[in-house]
Amino acid sequence: MSEEKYKKAARTIVKAGIFPFPINNTMMELLKLLIDEEQLNFIMAFTKKPSQTMEQLKKRSKMSKDEINTHVDKLAKKGFIFNQPNSKGIMVYRLMPLVMVGAFEYTFMKKIEFSKENEKIAILFAKLWDELADFIQDNYDMILPLFQRMLPFDRTVPFLDKNIEGEEIQITINKELEVPEEKVITTQNVEEIIQKFDEIAVGHCFCRHHQDLLSNPCKQTDIRENCFTFGKSAKYVAEQGFGRMISKQEALTILKASEKDGLVHKAWHPHSDISKAETSICNCCKCCCGIFDWWRKGTTAIINSTNFLSYIDKNMCIGCGTCMEKCPVDAIQGDDNNKAERTAEWCIGCGVCAHFCPENAISLLEGMRTVFVPPPRLRK
Ligand code: SF4
Ligand code: SF4
Ligand code: SF4
Repeated sequence: MSEEKYKKAARTIVKAGIFPFPINNTMMELLKLLIDEEQLNFIMAFTKKPSQTMEQLKKRSKMSKDEINTHVDKLAKKGFIFNQPNSKGIMVYRLMPLVMVGAFEYTFMKKIEFSKENEKIAILFAKLWDELADFIQDNYDMILPLFQRMLPFDRTVPFLDKNIEGEEIQITINKELEVPEEKVITTQNVEEIIQKFDEIAVGHCFCRHHQDLLSNPCKQTDIRENCFTFGKSAKYVAEQGFGRMISKQEALTILKASEKDGLVHKAWHPHSDISKAETSICNCCKCCCGIFDWWRKGTTAIINSTNFLSYIDKNMCIGCGTCMEKCPVDAIQGDDNNKAERTAEWCIGCGVCAHFCPENAISLLEGMRTVFVPPPRLRK
């Protein structure tokens, strides 16, 4: 009976997200560790509608306000319920998926100790990711159109600071790159994004924290506390103990340190609508970032909004290979003379290559576009 209930709750949780997870033994084991049995009926009240007010929830769950609040308190602490008021000040309760954005992110955003149980949770998430990769590869032709219909997950905000040789990264406006229907002028600089918000929270980078628990620490940076949330996302993060409120100054200091380590700034917008204010900024490394890693493993497409495209001046390139090694999406390869050559369709315009090029051979061309790189087909 309880097995059946967990399965039903699992279906409701999967439906709240964007990835087609199989409901399998790993998911059952994970949910049993994260969710108590008495919370399952409450979760199922979200089956038809993932976001509800208290009145709607009372009707659907047939529970009292006190009972609902007890469930909300417990599930919000685990990242399964987002509880913040909407723009009219009415409290809305949203069921969160396992990932993007939900229980996985919030579990590892807070500082968690190395313990047998936390290690087990980390291992089960990793196993579930591998099984999702298998599922997507097994059903590649059926699932590819799903990715093609998805909106961009994130938006790259490139390095616009001085590169290691001390010169500004050169930016050239390129009219040909401009996509006419995307006339939105987004903030192209992390400092300006930080200045927009009075409420800023920082939590641990969940991808690197997850890898730490798997004894596979990041190869690119020692920084862990550099995942930012803004506005009501920041309030939620701080209220539930996933992170802490910080000043603009502290946020800028952490962002600078992240740039120094060559981490890619990625901004997230509500419902992928880049005309709306950012909800968060990630600072991603090539090795641990879930999206880069899932893409390499054939689990997801890279779907990204960017205003930039790298340009390599081959006359200046000495073929040192740094940009090829650093590019998070492997968009740069060596040509026959071992000089750097970039694949435009793959470039997310992060500026990491330009930041690290010792010859200043790389600049950025400007023009809004969407990057879609399908998941690699890893099986014949
Ligand atoms: S997406 Fe990037 S910054 Fe965000 S948690 Fe993952 S690696 Fe860290
Ligand atoms: S980092 Fe610069 S010099 Fe080195 S291969 Fe890339 S473009 Fe050429
Ligand atoms: S080539 Fe790679 S490192 Fe350079 S801007 Fe594009 S995605 Fe970033």
